[in-house]
Amino acid sequence: MIRVFARPLLAAALALAGAALAAEPPLRVVATSTDLKSLVEAVGGDQVSVESVAPPASDPHAVDLKASQILRLKGAALIVRVGLDHEPWLAKVRPTAPVLDASQGIALLQAETPRLRADARPHVHGLGNPHYWLDPENARPVTAAILRQLSKLRPASAAAFEANRTQFLERLDAGLKRWREAMVPYKGTRMVVMHETWPYFAARYGLVIVGAAEPVPGVPPTPAEVAALIARMRAGNVRLLVADTHSDSALVNQIAHGTVARVATLVPSVAGEPEARDYIALFDLNVRRFTEVMAAR
Ligand SMILES: [Zn+2]
Repeated sequence: MIRVFARPLLAAALALAGAALAAEPPLRVVATSTDLKSLVEAVGGDQVSVESVAPPASDPHAVDLKASQILRLKGAALIVRVGLDHEPWLAKVRPTAPVLDASQGIALLQAETPRLRADARPHVHGLGNPHYWLDPENARPVTAAILRQLSKLRPASAAAFEANRTQFLERLDAGLKRWREAMVPYKGTRMVVMHETWPYFAARYGLVIVGAAEPVPGVPPTPAEVAALIARMRAGNVRLLVADTHSDSALVNQIAHGTVARVATLVPSVAGEPEARDYIALFDLNVRRFTEVMAAR
């Protein structure tokens, strides 16, 4: 008998909770990147207030936590992280809130990279390439995980979260169509990257990364390595160098001047430039920038 009544009772309790929660303040979520912040906001809507730990315009690998941020991490209802070796500082904070690792359920690239000590340097891609949010298709599993987690924390709003995500996926699908059409002519483009930020983006649009300026992710090249890279780019007739917003511009110029490559400076994260105001706008900007540089040659 209890089994028979449990469901309606639970539903009634949830409805009551929903009425009570309507007046509740937004869930406080801390995301470790502006990209995850944007995706949490897309699902959470006005039921969440999200803060990103990493400032968007700087190197996301070199986060220096302020005391106020540690306090906010400790007071959060939920922490959403990139995972892998992207946030070695998180273990030291020892957060009490549930931590959603957004890398779960992602088909990782470069996971065969030999494991390096993730604590020796902040970001060496030692567990696979962590820049998976730069394949826009990966927003699907990431927002699904966010939906599950937010619904668990605030069951009365589960339907609203689901509706928000559906609306976001409609925008994403429209974007995917737009970006695919714009990128089709550049399939097979061979490029050198400053940092291995772009393998997911490259895989999505059929671009070929033939080299990276950094010998190991996060480690600047020596002068001899720069000279060798320039020689290889000339020999291989590589015509595109992809830099990130926070790349060392002197090094970018040195490589560009030594070769026939044009430079496309792409934005790795939401809010890295004002135009990249959310996750969809980030790809609109990067696709436009890429195609503009390619079309100008
Ligand atoms: Zn990286």
